[in-house]
Amino acid sequence: MSTVCTTCPYCGVGCGIKAEITGDREVSIKGDDAHPANAGRLCSKGTHLAETVGLEGRLLYPEVGGEQVEWDEALSLVASRFADTIRDHGPDSVAFYVSGQLLTEDYYVANKLMKGFIGSANIDTNSRLCMASAVAAHNRAFGEDVVPCSYDDLEAADLILLVGSNTAWCHPVIWQRIEKARAERGTKLVVIDPRRTETAECADLHLPIRPDGDVALFNALLAEMQGRGLLDDKYLRDHVDAPDGFWNDLSGDAALAGVEPGLLDQLCDLVAAHPKMVTLFSQGANQSVAGTDKGNAIINLHLATGRIGKHGMGPFSITGQPNAMGGREVGGLASMLAAHMGFSEAECDAAQAFWNSPTIARKPGRKAVDMFRDVHEGRIKAIWVMATNPAVSMPDAGFVREALDRCDFVVVSDVMAETDTAAYADVKLPALAWGEKDGTVTNSERVISRQRPLFAPPGAAKADWWIVQEVARRMGHDDAFAFESPAAIFREYAAQTGYRNAGKRKLDLSEWAGTSDAAYAAWTPTIWGGASPYADGQFSTDNSKAQLVAVVPSSLSAVDPCFPLRLNTGRYRDHWHTMTRTGLSPRLSQHRREPMAEIHPLDALEHGIIDGQLVRLTTAQGDSIFRAMITDAQRQGDVFAPMHWTDQTSGGGRANRLPGQTVDPVSGQPAFKNSRCMIEAIEPDWRAFLVCTSRPILPPLLYWTSARIASGWLVELSGEGAIDVDSLLPEGDRIEAADLQRGMRRIAVRDEQGRLSAALYLTRSGTLPSRDWIISQLISDEPAEAPALLAARPKIAGPDKGPVVCVCFNIGVKQITRAIAQQSLTSVDDIGTALNAGTNCGSCRPALAKLLTEVREPELEAAE
Ligand code: SF4
Repeated sequence: MSTVCTTCPYCGVGCGIKAEITGDREVSIKGDDAHPANAGRLCSKGTHLAETVGLEGRLLYPEVGGEQVEWDEALSLVASRFADTIRDHGPDSVAFYVSGQLLTEDYYVANKLMKGFIGSANIDTNSRLCMASAVAAHNRAFGEDVVPCSYDDLEAADLILLVGSNTAWCHPVIWQRIEKARAERGTKLVVIDPRRTETAECADLHLPIRPDGDVALFNALLAEMQGRGLLDDKYLRDHVDAPDGFWNDLSGDAALAGVEPGLLDQLCDLVAAHPKMVTLFSQGANQSVAGTDKGNAIINLHLATGRIGKHGMGPFSITGQPNAMGGREVGGLASMLAAHMGFSEAECDAAQAFWNSPTIARKPGRKAVDMFRDVHEGRIKAIWVMATNPAVSMPDAGFVREALDRCDFVVVSDVMAETDTAAYADVKLPALAWGEKDGTVTNSERVISRQRPLFAPPGAAKADWWIVQEVARRMGHDDAFAFESPAAIFREYAAQTGYRNAGKRKLDLSEWAGTSDAAYAAWTPTIWGGASPYADGQFSTDNSKAQLVAVVPSSLSAVDPCFPLRLNTGRYRDHWHTMTRTGLSPRLSQHRREPMAEIHPLDALEHGIIDGQLVRLTTAQGDSIFRAMITDAQRQGDVFAPMHWTDQTSGGGRANRLPGQTVDPVSGQPAFKNSRCMIEAIEPDWRAFLVCTSRPILPPLLYWTSARIASGWLVELSGEGAIDVDSLLPEGDRIEAADLQRGMRRIAVRDEQGRLSAALYLTRSGTLPSRDWIISQLISDEPAEAPALLAARPKIAGPDKGPVVCVCFNIGVKQITRAIAQQSLTSVDDIGTALNAGTNCGSCRPALAKLLTEVREPELEAAE
């Protein structure tokens, strides 16, 4: 056994992990106490990484046209097709669409090839979908994309504003650090979010803002601080420039924010009373037509009140992906050149000289949405997709599929053999997965950490940097692409950040340009730029002053009678992106097994929707089917749907085919959070669920989803007309019950040892039984009797535990609410003592707090 210090591959918190290798592709995962991001904590996703490191579904060998080939054949084909396309149609006829899952070294090599040797800037990363607006806001305000805070600021702040961030679900370890600050020093928490998320439930104040009302809110807040005499005049004079008329034009029409005046007053009082304030913003702010303006509205408030560059203060954008920041640094965005350089003549010359390259991109390339539009319209004729799944994750994903289908040449480098994007690939290249990769990542607070390999590469899989380098060499660039290791790439990247920099850019890693292989191997997490890069008030602009940016609130848009609701797409607590990894984990699949459309009760009433019913969401782009969840956590008029489900996991639930191609005009980031939609209830002829040890091949159905369970799959199905149940079930000893009048069929199949291998429960009009017990019977060594299997419950049934809340200890809602009521529990810690729930990763603690409130409040009201 050996222990390896590495980094979690999921979100931008960038938690350190201690991985103890316990066998062949077996590992035990713990948080790394010594890592500055998490100090030993991990959320549910990080905690259950061990369930995702197997080889199920892996792409292990290169494929051309669906046939396995040798590396040389695949690489030569990619190189020749890209070279031919560039020769015939110019450098902008090719593109790379890359990912925040790549390591910095992978990104560096891909960026170098595209911008320095192909001569186009057509490389963009899926981080465009996540935080490009924050990048643009930083560039406008600071002159450079620099996050001016560190996580330690959260623990030193007296007030934290969370804007468009369901932190408890999407950045859970940051949430735990916030909770620590609240417990230890009484830090106040305000959540500004249209949805009453679990994060908002826990806040001191929740402002259920109108979607895209953020600029109006922050302008009003700034105007109020000015009115109260709380601007920092000295800081403004010494360190900040304001455009002419900024203060006169400051539009503070708070009504456009859509919050009650009383709530806004409370917010103003909190901000006025707590100078030590951090504003943490995320995708809810960024994924908007006004995402960049929102970022600048937030930054304006901090600059004007001098709340930046000091411990416990600052505007803090947190990234979604584990290495979104590393991609920003090396030039993974089409709008940046390399090493935080833009496309000025001097910067282009510097990059070309440093790389000694034959050419250089001299203008920005196509950002993600425009890139796929160019593919669709034939201007881009060859595209290489690395470590991402745009056929699912891009807005208007149906259009992206059409684009890939039309494209002359599609290359996909991926870990998984079957993804919705890989279905369009002419060439599939097997990449290394987490647990095999070797390199660095940069988290949201600029800490560079190592991802280290735990296992040998499986099959013929190779590192992404190696794959790109081998193509570059076959395109004739041997000398510039002769890296022997990730350490060699890191050294060159570090040297580039210092090249012709002379203090102009804060990103300067040149002190590490001589890092030896041994020092790279032993690298410990290191923050570049220090905890507070702008502590000296010297920004990265020509005159070293930051800029206030005049931003205008979004006006109210007229309601479209065809699409009366607003759709917001986002994430669940225990799933990551398109579930290629978290979908392998039975534990992580328990929290939300199906994609739910969350809708306000009054909207549900108006549209005749019942909780748990199937609904169709439709936009101008298309439609998809979800299960309805009626909740007053939604604003009336808004619907939320998760973005994780794909063709591999569902016959519906494809949220990102619904938003259009509208983007922020500055950043090019898509507006995922505010699409016009309609909703309608669906009445299938029949509903069913199937538990099975081997994945069934499903016929076309109205709706289906499949989720991993401990011994196989749980498949939910709904359809119209007849269903051939035999095609869904394996061979074996069958027992069956049917009530044809009520349209009920139940079939259990046992294998040769008498163990349950599949069970199907179907109804045309009644209810379906609970899934939990029958799931526990799959491959049980002591199979239950036939009547129990057909009833899907034991002879003597225990109490139902309800949907799982704590995935670490498999504790359900009903268990928790019963314990709260029966044992008079009054705190989350009490629940932990009674049931263990919330005592491991802690990701469910906000949900436990909510349940506590829901159970205790009626009791308290009754007692009054
Ligand atoms: Fe991984 Fe969770 Fe940490 Fe994010 S918060 S890096 S998902 S363990």
